[in-house]
Amino acid sequence: MQVCEYDILVVGAGAAGMAVALACRRRNLRAAVVEREEEPGGILLQCIHNGFGLQRFGEELTGPEYAERYLREVEGTEIDVFCGTTAVRLTGGDAFRSVVTYSAKYGVREFRVGAVILAVGCRERNRGNIGIPGTRPAGIFTAGLAQRLTNIDGYIPGSRVVIVGSGDIGLIMARRMTWLGAKVLGVVEIMPTCSGLLRNVVQCLEDFDIPLYLSHVVTRIEGAGRVRAVEVAPWRNGQADSRNAFRLECDTLLLSVGLIPEHELARDAGVGISPDTRGPFVDANLMTNIPGVFACGNGLHVHDVVDYVSEESERCGRAAADFVTGITDTVKQIPLHAGANVRYVLPGTIAAGRSNLLSLRSMVECEAARCTLHRGEVELATKTFRHVRPAEMIRWNISAEMTDDMSREETQPLDITIQCVADDE
Ligand SMILES: Cc1cc2nc3c(=O)[nH]c(=O)nc-3n(C[C@H](O)[C@H](O)[C@H](O)COP(=O)(O)OP(=O)(O)OC[C@H]3O[C@@H](n4cnc5c(N)ncnc54)[C@H](O)[C@@H]3O)c2cc1C
Repeated sequence: MQVCEYDILVVGAGAAGMAVALACRRRNLRAAVVEREEEPGGILLQCIHNGFGLQRFGEELTGPEYAERYLREVEGTEIDVFCGTTAVRLTGGDAFRSVVTYSAKYGVREFRVGAVILAVGCRERNRGNIGIPGTRPAGIFTAGLAQRLTNIDGYIPGSRVVIVGSGDIGLIMARRMTWLGAKVLGVVEIMPTCSGLLRNVVQCLEDFDIPLYLSHVVTRIEGAGRVRAVEVAPWRNGQADSRNAFRLECDTLLLSVGLIPEHELARDAGVGISPDTRGPFVDANLMTNIPGVFACGNGLHVHDVVDYVSEESERCGRAAADFVTGITDTVKQIPLHAGANVRYVLPGTIAAGRSNLLSLRSMVECEAARCTLHRGEVELATKTFRHVRPAEMIRWNISAEMTDDMSREETQPLDITIQCVADDE
């Protein structure tokens, strides 16, 4: 087996992988990126709608345009990008980290590196994950697969479409299928609120009069060779109300029922996986429990906006570069947990005496909500956010002054809570 030595190996060449590799290269480290697809860019390449880059570039770009900006920068550096190369095994170690890769072009290789950064993205949940009863005809796709078929491979998956799940990919595909001449009969969502960004509800459903069935589920799929119809029923008190079910005649069912970080490589190496994000547990430096193994982007937790993926990945790259160059981090890290109404908070620790950018998701929807950082009964910091929804990530920067005292105090875990507040408060 050929052995390759680098300072840093990045697994995945999507938005996260490109940003993290550039951050390492700016520190003059020898960086390599392995990507299992034949070209770099990740999921951005199939997202031909606009809406990318507003925060980062102050412009509305399409996914491929956003990717292009990073790709051009990567090409202008000495970063080695190996496409068509899949990382299959990761091992931690004292002297170096090892990653074994397979590739039709390069064969089996072992990368021995100072640090590994997992920027592996996420995958879609499918019919098997949600268990819709009925026959198994053709015409059932995950929304992301349908997006790839239409936007990259040039196929139209069907002409009468029902979409399950109101996440952003489902909403964007409702509009895309309409533009392609298909009839979208509706988006069926089990929750009482839409799980995609508000701007996508308006621009992808309301502008095209596509019905959104909130608190509804698909209870049966019909069809032999091809999907013929689906049965939709209201969802009340945790059950489908079959007496009020109705049929939608369609030939295609698209599933947009959630994304899961690709965590197998990390898990098999012994990295702790969070049951809330399904990605690795990381500390304030975005490092996992295996020293020298870092994670960022959708492989860490599912982001709604790519600009934040790039920002997080640059931070991750700087921390990995510190690790490789022996800049030891002696800062005290205090465990941080999700409290009332918080689905998850990242990272899993707060670095005392530094500013800490937290990403959290709410379990409740409200016009105004107060986030509070507690140590036991003591409130350490609080901030009010507007329009809090489970679908939209909250970012909260805890300033260095707020965490200064923590370096002197005992390391009692912290927790963060969300509480809806009345508008007049
Ligand atoms: C349909 C859709 C619409 C979106 N719309 C918007 C929008 O309008 N605006 C916006 O800002 N954001 C949007 N986003 C979000 C944004 O595009 C993503 O959050 C971001 O691009 C994710 O980047 P990533 O690098 O983490 O993951 P990815 O782009 O998925 O990249 C991960 C890469 O890792 C590779 N990989 C995985 N495992 C291995 C392995 N073992 N070995 C080698 N390579 C591996 C994969 O092949 C992939 O290329 C959208 C996302 C989707 C899916």
